[in-house]
Amino acid sequence: MGTIDNLPPLREVIRTHDLQARKSMGQNFLLDLNLTAKIARQAGDLTKCDVLEIGPGPGGLTRGLLSEGARHVLAIEKDARCLPALAEIVAACPGRLTVLEGDALDIDPLAHLTPPIRVAANLPYNVGTELLVRWLTPQDWPPFWLSLTLMFQREVAERIVAQPGSKTYGRLAILAQWRADARIVLQLPPEAFTPPPKVSSSVVHLQALPKPRFKADATVLSRVVAAAFNQRRKMLRAALKGLAPDIEDRLIAAGLKPTDRAEQIPLEGFCALARSMAQT
Ligand code: SAM
Repeated sequence: MGTIDNLPPLREVIRTHDLQARKSMGQNFLLDLNLTAKIARQAGDLTKCDVLEIGPGPGGLTRGLLSEGARHVLAIEKDARCLPALAEIVAACPGRLTVLEGDALDIDPLAHLTPPIRVAANLPYNVGTELLVRWLTPQDWPPFWLSLTLMFQREVAERIVAQPGSKTYGRLAILAQWRADARIVLQLPPEAFTPPPKVSSSVVHLQALPKPRFKADATVLSRVVAAAFNQRRKMLRAALKGLAPDIEDRLIAAGLKPTDRAEQIPLEGFCALARSMAQT
C-alpha cells in the first residue's frame, strides 16, 4: 500500500500548508495517526467498500481509512485551505482517494460512490447532527450506507444511544435505534484534538438494519417525535395537540395513554403512534 506511510507527520503538514484551525469551521484536528487508524478500524472491514468521509481537514482520518484498506475514499471538505494537504494523500494513493471541495450539506455524494458504502467522519457538531438525521430518515430503507462511524460531543453520542426514561432520550435516540444498531465505540478526551475542544468526544458506530425494527413512515415518525420531545415535560395529548384534532383517540388507538410523557414511551410506541397518525 506504498507511499502513504512516507507522508510527513500531520503536525508538519499543518505547518507546511499553514492550516491554523478555524473555529468558524468547527476545526479540531486529530494528529495522532495511531488514533485515526483506531477510529478507522471501528468502521468495520473497509477492504471491499467505498468510504464517504465528510470533513477530512488535513487528512488524519483519511490516512487511517486508506491504511486500513478502504477500496476508495470520497472526502468532502468545505475549507479550501485543506486541499493542497489532501492532494499529497491523493498522490500517495493513486486512484483510491477523491476529494470534493464544498459543503457536505449541499453535495450529493452518490454519483461518486460505488456500493457497498460506509461513512466515517469527525465533523463539527451541528453539521454532524443534521447529516445523521438525513442519513437516518430517507423514505426508503435500506439506505445507501452499511454503517456510519461518527465523532460527536459525548453528550450528543449519549443522546443517540439513550434508552426510555433517561434525560437524554429523545428524537436522536428514536431515529437512530429505529433503523440501526447504535453503539458508542470509543471515548476521546479533549487533549486528543488540536486545538482541544471544551468537552469530551465519543465515536458512535451505527450499523444499518436490513429493515426498520417497527413499521412506520419516516416523515410521520420524525414529525411526531419532534413534536413530542419539543415539549418533553408535557403530557402527550398536550404536546401533540397541534398535529391532529383527535389526538387522544389516535394515542389510544396506538396503545398509549394520553397522559403519558414522551420520555417514557419506547420506540415501539412511537412507531405505533406514527402508524395511527398516518391513518386518514
Ligand atoms: N477529519 C479531520 C480530523 O479528524 O482531524 C478534521 C476534523 S474537524 C473537527 C472538521 C472538519 O470538517 C474540518 O476540516 C472542517 O473544515 C470540515 N467542515 C466543516 N463544516 C463542513 C461542511 N459543512 N462540509 C464539509 N466539511 C466541513
